[in-house]
Amino acid sequence: MKIMTFTRRAAILGAAALPMVRRAAAQARPPVVVSSANRNNGGVNCCAKAMEIMKAGGDTLDAVIAGVNIVELDPRDNSVGYGGLPNEDGVVELDSSCMHGPSRRGGAVGALRNIKTPSKVARIVMEQTDHMMLVGEGALRFAKDMGFQEDNLLTEESRIQWLTWKKSLRDPAGHTNWGPGLDAPPSEQRKAAVLREIKEMFPQASDELLAEAWENAIHPPHGTINCIALNEKGEMSAVTTTSGLAWKIPGRVGDSPIIGGGLWLDQDVGGAGSTGRGEENLRVCGAHTVVENMRRGMAPKDACLDALKRVSRNFNDDLKRLAAIDLNFYALRKDGEYAGAALWNKASVNAARGAQFAVCEGGRESRQENSVYLYERKI
Ligand code: ASP
Repeated sequence: MKIMTFTRRAAILGAAALPMVRRAAAQARPPVVVSSANRNNGGVNCCAKAMEIMKAGGDTLDAVIAGVNIVELDPRDNSVGYGGLPNEDGVVELDSSCMHGPSRRGGAVGALRNIKTPSKVARIVMEQTDHMMLVGEGALRFAKDMGFQEDNLLTEESRIQWLTWKKSLRDPAGHTNWGPGLDAPPSEQRKAAVLREIKEMFPQASDELLAEAWENAIHPPHGTINCIALNEKGEMSAVTTTSGLAWKIPGRVGDSPIIGGGLWLDQDVGGAGSTGRGEENLRVCGAHTVVENMRRGMAPKDACLDALKRVSRNFNDDLKRLAAIDLNFYALRKDGEYAGAALWNKASVNAARGAQFAVCEGGRESRQENSVYLYERKI
């Protein structure tokens, strides 16, 4: 990883000192939808769809789930649903949770295989069982009983990336280093050898895909979509859905399906969700923390930044260690004020641009906005 420096002034004064932090509250009149940004305009499309459904009179939960279904079904987004990057065995395992404000109910699934739209299964757990969460084998059986079709979720692109990762774990002599973690990133020589082997196996694979595959092998990526909606009546719902951390140990469940961690909504206050390193979010119970901060009077952006400061505190504000972590919160308050906030202004890898989120207000085009952030990377 390239060396990153940190704006000292920001370290001393905190986020309020950062010039990029918008000072004006992002206030919109309901209806409002907020989501993570996602590849291929996924967040913008998600928010537009959710808005369309609310405007047609649909429930807020119908709206957010239809919104994230676009991303779950898009094979080009390799962090959510179909086409997601798999676990270390090459199997895609999906996590999702949803909450419905008016009924104050929620549902979740963890480590669900073979079903393209885990958010829909989470919703049925909420509506048709008296449980909150189903995982693994039981979740799949439940989904099939409820009429979901089983599919292979591993696309060729994701398979290429997985094989690149597996091959990256061998040392130059061909010994596997697969086990309790890597000591050092593989060399440039190793990179060339791995990508040559992959190209022989998949002659059609583009240079762009191979470059991404290598980057993802070395820095296992995250990715998720979180979406929160507020309608004109003040009703709210939220959903989070993901394929989680690439190359995870089978059965690893992140923050996304943990109600209170990757998602929380209180109809009296607002909702929040997260994307990024789920383990670090869980150590601050992030989404719940954000909503409770808003209940105590913080604006959404301050509520999110406070949760991020708790993550930083867990590392004694050691920026070298924090540099490897990407974490984002999204919040929408019941009056329509909203925010996206990131630990860093840019992601640790593949950061073509700064941290952003998507938002759609009634009467305006769905769009991306810059997130506020805690720390500034100079890559
Ligand atoms: N939060 C998700 C997880 O840890 C992944 C992500 O959003 O990047 O599973």
